[in-house]
Amino acid sequence: MIKRHKTRAVWIGKVKVGGGVPVSVQSMTKTKTEDIKSTVRQIRELEDLGCQIIRLAIPRMSSAQAISKIKKQIHIPIEADIHFNPELALEVIKQGVNSVRLNPGNTTNKDAIREVVAQAKKREIPIRVGLNSGSVWGYKGKTGNTMEQKLVACAIEFSRFLESLKFRDIMVSLKASDVVSTINAYRLIAQKTDYPLHLGVTAAGPLNSSIIKSAIGIGSLLADGIGDTIRVSITGTPHDEVRIGHEILESLGLAKRRKPEIIACPTCGRCEIDIVKIVKQVESLIKNPKSEIRNPKLKIAIMGCVVNGPGEAREADIGIAGGKDFAFLFKHGKRIRKVPSGKIVPEFIKEIKKL
Ligand code: SF4
Repeated sequence: MIKRHKTRAVWIGKVKVGGGVPVSVQSMTKTKTEDIKSTVRQIRELEDLGCQIIRLAIPRMSSAQAISKIKKQIHIPIEADIHFNPELALEVIKQGVNSVRLNPGNTTNKDAIREVVAQAKKREIPIRVGLNSGSVWGYKGKTGNTMEQKLVACAIEFSRFLESLKFRDIMVSLKASDVVSTINAYRLIAQKTDYPLHLGVTAAGPLNSSIIKSAIGIGSLLADGIGDTIRVSITGTPHDEVRIGHEILESLGLAKRRKPEIIACPTCGRCEIDIVKIVKQVESLIKNPKSEIRNPKLKIAIMGCVVNGPGEAREADIGIAGGKDFAFLFKHGKRIRKVPSGKIVPEFIKEIKKL
């Protein structure tokens, strides 16, 4: 069990963030926000995949003015991503947005920030103090100038200003494109404050690179008990961002599994059966929304030989351990029969369906 770092709670619409509730998964649309039809379509697809909070880019007034129309057609809360221009924050708040992200690195006009805070307070919506490594390069920290020190000092300075205006619904994110700086920055701020933390490694690149950086960056922090909501950043579809976000949480036991777990060996020179093919077939069955094999509690072991195979297969609900042209089939810890290699997949699937 992971012991979570204690944070204050804020509400983004109906989604509670912080205060010990389960970590939520969010993403960001990649459409032009003012293209309402495409934006709504994309958000609905993400909702179906389990996206719990959606962030929209607000680069111009027409994007801000699209918020109320989008909000009416979706089911999850919206966070508006604001940079440079606090007027856009005022407009999205008027439009009924559920949360505003401000970047202290490019939003510095104190009077304008005061006005945004006043309106956010009136509508009871939180503000995320959202820093990226790219926006603090010019910041001069009083306690050091490493990337993590700058991110933390800048976020705390801005958040304290919000608190001086008697505003408490604050979340913080400190995303660096460098994984180690990201981890260090979040660890540092978690020691100093109780703000709910939105985790992410920024600009993590295309799918494979992002999976690795995010799993290490977000995963290490979550394993430390740090983090209340996450976004995996991918140069690719937001659908993958949501899927991978959930997989990170599931791998750490921080979210219930949404599909059966496959434990499969990597194969090696000892392997006597076609494990890769068997895993592919079982995986495609699990992924198919119409499949009967959807029980998320199922643990399925697919192992190539008798070295680790019987042990893993016994630990799982169902499993196979390969031998020479056959496999042993295990169910609930017991070896139930030996199956010739030509029949492994159909026999295995038949038994899985009975579970
Ligand atoms: Fe190799 Fe057997 Fe381990 Fe699979 S279970 S990786 S075949 S030793």
